[in-house]
Amino acid sequence: MKTQTALGVKTNTEYGSRTFVYEVEGLRQSNITDKTNSPIRRSGTVYITVPYARMNQEMQRITRMGGKIISIKAVSEDSQMNGQTTTGETTKPMTQAKPKSHKDVPVNTYRPKNPFIGKCLSSTELVREGGEGTVRHLVFDLSGSDLHYLEGQSIGIIPPGTDDKGKPHKLRLYSIASTRHGDNLDDQTVSLCVRRLEYNHPETGERIYGVCSSYLCGMEEGADVAITGPVGKEMLLPDDEDATIIMIATGTGIAPFRAFIWRMFKEREQNPDYQFKGLAWLFFGCAYTPNILYKEELEELQRQFPDNFRVTYAISREQKNKDGGKMYIQHRIQENADELWDHIQKPNTHTYICGLKGMEGGIDEGMSAVTGKFDVDWSEYQKQLKKDHRWHVETY
Ligand code: FAD
Repeated sequence: MKTQTALGVKTNTEYGSRTFVYEVEGLRQSNITDKTNSPIRRSGTVYITVPYARMNQEMQRITRMGGKIISIKAVSEDSQMNGQTTTGETTKPMTQAKPKSHKDVPVNTYRPKNPFIGKCLSSTELVREGGEGTVRHLVFDLSGSDLHYLEGQSIGIIPPGTDDKGKPHKLRLYSIASTRHGDNLDDQTVSLCVRRLEYNHPETGERIYGVCSSYLCGMEEGADVAITGPVGKEMLLPDDEDATIIMIATGTGIAPFRAFIWRMFKEREQNPDYQFKGLAWLFFGCAYTPNILYKEELEELQRQFPDNFRVTYAISREQKNKDGGKMYIQHRIQENADELWDHIQKPNTHTYICGLKGMEGGIDEGMSAVTGKFDVDWSEYQKQLKKDHRWHVETY
């Protein structure tokens, strides 16, 4: 059953009935009048117990009283039942939606010395006419291998040939764009979303093409490909079917999110133990509309699951931000920051960032502007989110 909370979001009653402890500093004791919250003083900080439904109001009340929230922890059910005091020691961090135990995650089944030789089953252009560059969706056959992976992991590709020192090329990592079942749903394939790297040499002006990305983007169907991995535990999806999953991608950063979204919405029959009922919100940034990767499929899923799936685009060369400049993803974050902040405070919200190195800066700027309104220091808050495994970044 779902309930509407003070945060204005649907949530599972499991969370609705829980309580949380805010660790607050700088609170003027004389202003604490709400007896239900039983503040406890400890070396300059105060602990305040808050029912889930009042989290937002309480945060505002604390801010009005000049306090600053340093951490938020969920009260363990045991301590609630035993009637223990609500200090940090009797609470557990907000890790309800923590990804599965890392020991269950497959890693390095194939290493560079002994890669699996798969075959390219298909290669499809994802950039439509009028867009810039080349991005291919590649499907590789894994049959005969022991390579199993989870959504959010990456594989390594070893391009053939040698580098300028005559040594074999090193592997390059690519985020997996398919679910564990693969695009053919037979658990025998893995898909990638690869942009061909091209740039002008800063001194000579010569056009340079990346080694591995050009090899992959030019790959013919039926060709062999040397695969290592899987690797990566940073971008795993939590098991919680009621979680809120915020995904922020630029360009091929959409790859792991395609895997998430397909698992949540397209492959429900394949996953009887994972029937996503929460909210998935994808922010996607690119230069032109024809560069929106997987656009049709994303929009079809949005039509099918309007209450559970949202997509927000930032199209830098076509849309304008509120100051008349180019629309980058951080502007969309800023536009939606109040709502995002409401979500991020919930213990079962995970935020994922994937794509171009440097994109985090703008996102942090947007979040700081909003949390500043509530006198919450974003960088401190973000540290706690990272500790709780609720803030995931993979940029390259
Ligand atoms: P290389 O031949 O290795 O050339 C790269 C080098 O070119 C750089 O090191 C830099 O020295 C130089 N260079 C690059 N741009 C410029 C520039 N503008 N000016 C001057 N010099 C420059 N890529 C994807 O396409 N899709 C993915 O899903 C993906 N996932 C990744 C996941 C992870 C965890 C990581 C770490 C990386 C991921 N990448 C992904 C990037 C990928 O691994 C490769 O780095 C990329 O494809 C380029 O490799 P390359 O061999 O083509 O380029």
